[in-house]
Amino acid sequence: MKISAVRTHLLDYRLPTPFESASMRFDRRSHILVEIVCDDGTTGWGECLGPARPNAAVVEAYASRLIGADPLETEKIWATLYNALRDQGQRGLTITALSGIDIALWDIKGKHFGVPVSTLLGGRFRESVRAYATGSFKRDGVDRVEDNAAETKRHAEAGFHAVKIKIGFNVEEDFRVIRAVRDAIGSDVRLMIDANHGYDAMEAVELGRRAAEYGIDWYEEPVVPEQLGAYRQVRANQPIPVAGGETWHTRWGMREPIETRAIDIVQPDLAGVGGFTEAKRVADLAALHGIRVVPHVWGTAVHIAAALQFMAAMIPNPVRVNPIEPILEFDRTDNPFRQAIVKTPIEHVGGVVAIPDGPGLGIEINRDALTEFRMKDA
Ligand SMILES: [Mg+2]
Repeated sequence: MKISAVRTHLLDYRLPTPFESASMRFDRRSHILVEIVCDDGTTGWGECLGPARPNAAVVEAYASRLIGADPLETEKIWATLYNALRDQGQRGLTITALSGIDIALWDIKGKHFGVPVSTLLGGRFRESVRAYATGSFKRDGVDRVEDNAAETKRHAEAGFHAVKIKIGFNVEEDFRVIRAVRDAIGSDVRLMIDANHGYDAMEAVELGRRAAEYGIDWYEEPVVPEQLGAYRQVRANQPIPVAGGETWHTRWGMREPIETRAIDIVQPDLAGVGGFTEAKRVADLAALHGIRVVPHVWGTAVHIAAALQFMAAMIPNPVRVNPIEPILEFDRTDNPFRQAIVKTPIEHVGGVVAIPDGPGLGIEINRDALTEFRMKDA
């Protein structure tokens, strides 16, 4: 079996109500899928985290090295592609593009052997995961405090055991949001906060100290990802566990935050960290250092399916009678193609998501939806 074609599919949807995190404005939802086709007709699907067109350009730059290669040789291909752009590309789009390719190759490998990727990774420790609802951005034209409280209440009523809200805009207003959300969801629902690196270290410490009484499970990306000293300052000076990792790529990018305990929880993104091949190494590194792993997920059903396959195979750490179970980040913001691109949507039932057990990623792509949501401009 040889790779015969590498294609990208750019998807796009203009949001009727734009929204913002502390670091990014969303006027549209844009995501990129990678399709790898083999000479025997086997097709694999992957997804890259981040901007669609720049990712597509890097995937296309890698493509000539993929044509004719054996798709089962995932380590060899990863090393070959990484080395091809290593001198100028140890992190960023070179790695997010490589991630989409790697996910597609594992999908092919699973289909070739007739087993889910999770089986290839070593076996399924679980058949379902609890999901937490991600949302509560700052939406245009609405009162943020009331809007976030109402939204998280809906998630709690839908059965989610946990919700994550966006902060990092302004300490005073963020504090009011946290207080209102905790009041809206009650004391039984877990709550996480994500600053999307909107604070400096002093603001982050102040917010953490004040918010802790509202029972926060983790404090995500309090400060910019380049400043690990600031991460350690936040972790040392306020009581909420610190999480991060969605912008750190490869084992080398993850090594210092893990080894120096800049974080309590590491959040590798399958579509960003380097695909299954690299995420496995990062999870092993985290386990070695006693750091909890909660994958970051922000994309389509392809991305979600990849995360689920990975999570199925995550080794309990520590091993015990009732182990700590991984939880799935489940985006609840507006994106009509997120699930439309697969024939069987990956949905939650009462806050629980079943892990597909079909070959590869366990999904089938709906090509009509790829056409419907194809990016027309940029
Ligand atoms: Mg985040």
